[in-house]
Formats: sequence, C-alpha cells, structure tokens
Amino acid sequence: MPATSPLRLCVVGATGRMGGTIIKEAPADRFTITGAVAAEGESAIGKTLRELEIADIDLKVVPPGSLGEQLRSADVCISFTAAAAEVANIPTVAASGRPFILGTTGFSDSQQAYVLEALGGKVPCVMASNFSIGANVLFAMAATLKSLPPDFDVSVLEMHHSGKADAPSGTAKTIAEIVSKARGYSTTVHGRSGLSKRAKGEMEVASFRGGGHPGEHAIYAFGPYEMLKFEHVAFSRSAFAQGALLAAGWISQHPEPRIYSMLDVLGFKV
Ligand code: NAD
Repeated sequence: MPATSPLRLCVVGATGRMGGTIIKEAPADRFTITGAVAAEGESAIGKTLRELEIADIDLKVVPPGSLGEQLRSADVCISFTAAAAEVANIPTVAASGRPFILGTTGFSDSQQAYVLEALGGKVPCVMASNFSIGANVLFAMAATLKSLPPDFDVSVLEMHHSGKADAPSGTAKTIAEIVSKARGYSTTVHGRSGLSKRAKGEMEVASFRGGGHPGEHAIYAFGPYEMLKFEHVAFSRSAFAQGALLAAGWISQHPEPRIYSMLDVLGFKV
C-alpha cells in the first residue's frame, strides 16, 4: 500500500482503558480503526464505537471469535487486554501473520514462555511492559547503575490505580531485570514486613495501588552517604497510547518476523 495511506488498525481490548485511549488518540490522517475486539459477553459487543462514546466511528465491537476475520482487513494488530486473553488470542494473531503490538502485562512465567514461543519467528512484534518514551529512557538509565560501587542497594517503587490487576507492574519487573543483570543480583524481594533486613545481592520492588493513578516508577540507588533517584510519572494513559501508535507505525516498516522492544523502536541501547 502507498506510504501515505492510513495504517489500518485492529484494536483488541477496544473497550478498555488503554484500547479506548488508543482509538481516541489515533490521528485519522495516519490511522484507520478497522477492527475493535472486546471480551466475549461484554455489554459493548455489537455496539458501535460511536454508541459507546469511544470515538466518532461506526464500527461495531466484536468478540474474540471474530479476531481472525478482523485481522484480514488490518495492517497492524494492537492488543491491551489481560494475560489469559492473550494466551487465547495469540495463536490467531500468529496465524494471521499481521504485525503485532502487545502491551498486556501480568503474564506468569509459563504464560510468558508460551507467548514468546507462539509469536517468535511468526510475526513482527513489539512487546513492551511500558510503551511510554520516558519509561524507556528510565530503562536505559537503570542499566547505567552497573557502574555504582557494590555497597549501593537498588530498589524500585511503583504506583498505579486501584483497578490494576497485576503487581508488581510489568514496568517494575523490566526495571528489576535490567538492574539485576547490571549488578549481578540473584534474588528479588517484594515489599517487607516483620524482621526483614536487607541482604546483599538483593533487588527490592514495592507496589502501591490507589485511586486513578496512571502509573509512576522510581528507581532508588541507596549508597552509605548519598542516594540517587530516577523517576518517571505518566500524567495520563496517553503516554502509553502515543508510544503504542508510534510502535504500530514502526513495525509496519519492519517486516522481519521477530520480537522487538520499545527500546528498538526508539533506537535506545541498553
Ligand atoms: P481494562 O481492564 O480497562 O481493559 C481490558 C480490555 O480487554 C477490555 O476491552 C476487555 O473487553 C478486553 N478483553 C478481555 N478479555 C478479552 C479477550 N479474551 N479477547 C479480547 N479482548 C478481551 O485494562 P487496561 O487498563 O486497558 O489494561 C490492559 C492491559 O494493558 C493490562 O495488562 C495492563 O497492565 C496493560 N498496560 C500496559 C501498558 C504498557 O505500556 N505496556 C500501559 C498500561 C496498561
């Protein structure tokens, strides 16, 4: 298709906080929403995006059973749903060959392994625990903590709205992985209570849940006499939606069937 034609998007999780934001924010000169998929049994199924006041588009929301059909008329699939939903839907995405933007978090280790196996080498895919540009800069900064002396301890604190299902956030897990690799940490502690002194070689991750907070992550590096703090705060879900749309445009130009990260999209090295 000519480079100037709008990219046709199928949005899975179209009625959710993230899917709805992506649909609302996709500029019509660059994107056309051709598919909107939501959970089976939701009252939104069969209603249009206009009726649902998501966007001024007369496109009906369909259940996941119609995903394969929706993908036939899409250039890119974007999915922000739930871990179990991805496990069920990903074989259809992989069979379609359509480039895939996967934003869902909260996979168990076995679900994560399944997703990587099901997508790897099948479709071009950008998978990221956080699609915001600032959080990806934070990932790059996390890697620089490698150069701190061994007596510095590193912790991550994340905050999200009370409706968030998974804890710690996928972003906090990514930061913990980057820091643990950089500093050779072998264990991760999630919050503390009772007698719980900090051991050497330990990564610490804590989570707060409350209100409508769209997301905040802070990395602390505690030295004996000083402290470093790197922080990223999302003002709204637009931070993630804009990144996901950027990734959709990017993946449409990268046809090799492999799994990329948002760091690849932004050209950052970690
Ligand atoms: P939400 O609960 O508001 O929306 C979930 C959506 O998924 C709904 O539209 C629902 O109908 C749909 N859904 C559920 N099961 C489905 C199925 N089997 N098939 C198709 N659709 C299905 O959730 P949310 O706040 O929009 O978050 C969605 C996911 O995105 C979560 O895992 C969240 O942690 C993650 N997230 C990622 C980023 C990032 O930058 N990577 C940012 C924010 C949220």
